[in-house]
Amino acid sequence: MYQPEIGMPKPDSDSELVTIPCPACGFNNSFWGKLDDNGFLIEHYGRQCQGYFEDEDGEREICGYRFRAKFCDECGADNDIAARRCHQCDAPLIDPDKKLREALKLKDALVVACNDMTLTAGKNRNQKPQLKVTYHTHEGNDLHEVWPLASKKQKQDFLARFVRPHLVDRHRPFDATAPTKVTASQHRFRPPDFVIARKQGRFWHLRQKIFDVESFITQDRLTAMLAQSRGQAFAEHDAS
Ligand SMILES: [Zn+2]
Ligand SMILES: [Zn+2]
Repeated sequence: MYQPEIGMPKPDSDSELVTIPCPACGFNNSFWGKLDDNGFLIEHYGRQCQGYFEDEDGEREICGYRFRAKFCDECGADNDIAARRCHQCDAPLIDPDKKLREALKLKDALVVACNDMTLTAGKNRNQKPQLKVTYHTHEGNDLHEVWPLASKKQKQDFLARFVRPHLVDRHRPFDATAPTKVTASQHRFRPPDFVIARKQGRFWHLRQKIFDVESFITQDRLTAMLAQSRGQAFAEHDAS
């Protein structure tokens, strides 16, 4: 019997072996996954590419592209979805569904599904370059985030904490920090699944972004959770 990913048992009875090409190296991975009636892929459970590169000396280097990753809120590093602590900075990693559940318990938090985002290049009042990110939500409340991009530290912070979790094609390096260059590559960035805003005074401020929720929580459970908290959060939101 061919084993798709070492140590990974068949997740459930309607899973089958699917071939998933790696966007980084092109290797055809065999993962457990689900197909619809027409044979189209619904989802797969593969985590990391099993392909490898061979350098000039014939040394093998594992590709390691992560199909699913848990991004560290502190340093932005990508970690295996099962990791409890960040491999780069040792910060604890919290599962997206737990983050979501905790946010839903907060009285002054607004939890909304995000369906799109817009990047706008600009300057702050001191004429220093900055990037404004607008997160568009299903409910029509836009939330903003501003990344100053003048100093070396600001640029590094942006690359680690914005670029890494938002970049879709992570196998292609992205190191631009000039706001106009970043906006020109908007298509390479994905919106988060959810944004969490906290109220500060009269305004809602973006506090947290949650990625890759679908892999941890079923859509039905999520809808129920959101519906439960929605009445309360929006009653407060509308009143502001
Ligand atoms: Zn690969
Ligand atoms: Zn970290």
